[in-house]
Amino acid sequence: MSRRKLVVGNWKMNGLRAQLGEVEAIGGLARDYPAAEVGLCLPATLISAADGMKGAAFIGAQDCHMKESGAHTGCLSAAMLAEAGASWTIVGHSERRQDQGETDADIAAKALAAKAAGLKVILCVGESLDVRDAGDAEAVVSAQLIASLPEGAASDWLAIAYEPIWAIGTGRIPTMEAVAAMHAALRAALASRIGPDADEMRILYGGSMNGDNAAELLALADVDGGLIGGASLTAAKFAPVIAAA
Ligand code: PEP
Repeated sequence: MSRRKLVVGNWKMNGLRAQLGEVEAIGGLARDYPAAEVGLCLPATLISAADGMKGAAFIGAQDCHMKESGAHTGCLSAAMLAEAGASWTIVGHSERRQDQGETDADIAAKALAAKAAGLKVILCVGESLDVRDAGDAEAVVSAQLIASLPEGAASDWLAIAYEPIWAIGTGRIPTMEAVAAMHAALRAALASRIGPDADEMRILYGGSMNGDNAAELLALADVDGGLIGGASLTAAKFAPVIAAA
């Protein structure tokens, strides 16, 4: 078992060309801290320009369409994103599950489309506050993971991000015990589907991770990195998270 930490920024719908200097600075941080694999999932409009200034970081997308091409106005295929310079993509972020009504089956199909285009994939899962308060979080999120998992899921192209919906952008995080229990449950769920390769698959934590809490979160046994929103928008905020990995 050798899981190199994976630390990925998700810029969501933030960033114009004026922010490319931050990409360059974060690429420099990736060079300074080679122990971790560092990436930025950018708005698609920035991927091509960022590719030339990414230093030791990788550039990723935040979503892709499940089809190779066709009449899908406004959508981007995985091959388009790969051609622009992406080497990874997120699929199944809770904001897309909520805002675009994406289902577990859609997400599995998107992950497969991404793999077919040569992209690696971060597949997001996570519970609502109601589910957490009801005490069902581990069962619900494990079931969501199994339902979203693509055929042929394997650690050399897929990582999982556990992101409690109520922790995203709120400044709240679960207790360390709850994060540890969830990551262990997700690894057990993975093992039931993919066998021993579950030990190699990276399971990231996401949801208000920042320079103040990253070291404690990343020290947990089954936490193999982070998916970071707000704290990845500038090199100054992202630096302590990368350093903690
Ligand atoms: C995210 O969008 O994936 C995320 C974790 O956001 P934040 O770090 O801002 O909570």
